[in-house]
Amino acid sequence: MERVTILGSGAAGFTAAIYTARAGLEPLLVEGPQPGGQLTTTTEGENFPGFPDGIDGFALMDAMRRQAERFGARFRSGVAVAAAFDGPVRRLELDGGEPIETRALIVATGATAKYLGLPSEQALIGHGVSACATCDGAFYRDVPVAVVGGGDTAMEEALFLTRFASRVHVIHRRDAFRASRIMAERVQRHPKIEIHWNHVVEEVRDPAAKQVTGLALRDVKTGAQSELEVAGYFAAIGHRPNTEPFRGLLEMNPAGYLVADRTRTSVPGVYAAGDVQDPVYRQAVTAAGTGCMAALEAERWLGEQDAGS
Ligand code: NDP
Repeated sequence: MERVTILGSGAAGFTAAIYTARAGLEPLLVEGPQPGGQLTTTTEGENFPGFPDGIDGFALMDAMRRQAERFGARFRSGVAVAAAFDGPVRRLELDGGEPIETRALIVATGATAKYLGLPSEQALIGHGVSACATCDGAFYRDVPVAVVGGGDTAMEEALFLTRFASRVHVIHRRDAFRASRIMAERVQRHPKIEIHWNHVVEEVRDPAAKQVTGLALRDVKTGAQSELEVAGYFAAIGHRPNTEPFRGLLEMNPAGYLVADRTRTSVPGVYAAGDVQDPVYRQAVTAAGTGCMAALEAERWLGEQDAGS
């Protein structure tokens, strides 16, 4: 039986592993479908404190992993597909291999950015297609970029991108934003932002050139097709928290994010860290912060259990 199991190998999971390993708990970390998490999909992180010259997302995750390993964390590949929390032992089913039994559990499974799913878009992820303006926006100085979406994320991404880009095109499939009024007004008033109402992206150009050169758009009202020249494309149509195995087991908000109070979920001994419980900040550093919190909470809880038994 494991003392602490951590699900997820992003900034939250690795930080939880560093802390629990250093506390002598020999945590087991299950890597999930994307080892290293969302940061490995960006080129360079410029806002993680401590790296004034920036750090490659992959290198940062690798450093965190090695740091956890140094203190005795163990790693295992696999994806949790189901869980049972009905006794003192938490049981996890993985997509392959033996199930895991653990006393404490830290869920750091993250969230996955939604993309439109066009083949041309998928082909250019990391080559001008991104879902994180905070991560990649600074690479688009003095060139036009596009943001797809009409919610608060799209508004935030568009406003952030005005700091760098020569022009920010917001492409929205309807004639009204879903975003909060204050954010929508800020976007509509901004001199650098041009809104393309009732438009959808049909294709991202140009996979053959291995870079984004423009978008093929369609007006959903008239059917008219047009081309828009941009050097960057940001999907901002929402994130999906990776909480499927915990549906009906852990309290979630209507969007599926785990509800956590100081990382404590609705089940004692089960903690949530990183984007899986954070629809607002979604930064590597906040994920790392909650990973630390979850580790300290788990350590304390295990100590209390041992003292009481
Ligand atoms: P939302 O679900 O609120 O918005 C998604 C947007 O993307 C919608 O405008 C939607 O269009 C559009 N969209 C979805 N799918 C497609 C598609 N296939 N093609 C084209 N467009 C599509 O997600 P957000 O990430 O913006 O926000 C999630 C939650 O987080 C919200 O509650 C939001 O308020 C909150 N949030 C708060 C922030 C803040 O307070 N600072 C910052 C960011 C998020 P349509 O409108 O037509 O459905």
